[in-house]
Amino acid sequence: MKKIVVIPGDGIGKEITDSAVEVLKKVDEKFKLDLEFETYDAGGTAYDKFGLPLPDETLDACKKADAVLFGAVGGNKWDNVKAELRPERAILGLRKGLGLYANLRPVKVATALVKNSPLKPELVDGVDLVIVRELVGGIYFGDRCESEIKNGVERAWDLENYSVPEVDRIAKLAFETAKIRRGKLTSVDKANVLATSRLWRRTITKLAENYQDVELNHLYVDNCAMQLCVNPKQFDVIVTGNLFGDILSDEAAVIGGSIGLMPSASIGELTSLYEPIHGSAPDIAGKGIANPMGTILSAAMLLRYSLHAEEAAKAIESAIDKTLAEGYRTADIYSEGFKKIGTAEATEKIIKNLQ
Ligand code: NAD
Repeated sequence: MKKIVVIPGDGIGKEITDSAVEVLKKVDEKFKLDLEFETYDAGGTAYDKFGLPLPDETLDACKKADAVLFGAVGGNKWDNVKAELRPERAILGLRKGLGLYANLRPVKVATALVKNSPLKPELVDGVDLVIVRELVGGIYFGDRCESEIKNGVERAWDLENYSVPEVDRIAKLAFETAKIRRGKLTSVDKANVLATSRLWRRTITKLAENYQDVELNHLYVDNCAMQLCVNPKQFDVIVTGNLFGDILSDEAAVIGGSIGLMPSASIGELTSLYEPIHGSAPDIAGKGIANPMGTILSAAMLLRYSLHAEEAAKAIESAIDKTLAEGYRTADIYSEGFKKIGTAEATEKIIKNLQ
């Protein structure tokens, strides 16, 4: 039996995780995966019930699970809650508690949606890349000083540091990811300026000796930011540190045309967590119009990376492609000439299209 902890969270979280669980249950029937689901609270919903954004019970259940499916947390309702109790704190607590050291963000543009991208159709048709971002190190977790006075001048500073084991761990995951894809890995750094980047580059170059079947190249982050706009099809897997990954993964997400479509995986030492890249969208919560595809594609990643059920993962991805090719669109990706559908109908169509 494979236990999946579901954390709907706030806003549209329940609507989209309900959809993904419905799809997973159908896939379970077809592929005999023996899935079991347990639902737990986090975020504002947990704060309202227990006075905490991440109750111990939720974190403990995640640690014991085979995988976690997460909706989204946050909303204006909790704007005045103390910083350490805000719903978004649940995400940091899960990252720390589960040792989520890598974030995987695939960007694959369905042919039916190339016109939704802000880039020219010929540039995005066929884009299929994954950004592997280091998630628990670098400048976001280094020492910092909010304010100090030296020689009468106020300054602040943040320290970037990476160790060889930290780079090795994320690089191994990136090489393994490239191996099961098209065998191409681009490491992104700023080695012409930063010492941490030079250590990053040395470590990855050395590790490449163990992965002769993966072609490695290095790019400076400023060049990578440009290349994602001018020729995103050149990339297969991109690996980078926390700060550069934060920025590049949001840039790459835009290529897909709507944040409602984008999935992600956070790979952990104990359990991995899967969630759409968008937030709780309080503006559309409860209206039944949220796009569930990002969450359903996150469920496909869960099957691929945590349960190694590749065939089942592909079945979900193909069902979404087919639903889009049939002309069905949720409001966020709708344009004239297509058939507008809500969350429930989109889920129904995707289930119908499962091979
Ligand atoms: P958001 O991603 O929730 O919404 C941005 C815009 O995109 C909104 O107009 C929303 O309606 C639309 N949108 C988002 N997901 C959609 C979907 N599936 N289908 C259709 N439209 C969709 O970002 P925001 O408005 O800046 O943040 C709202 C709340 O979510 C805040 O409290 C924020 O802190 C939180 N947040 C949580 C996470 C997370 O849980 N991982 C991530 C980002 C933001």
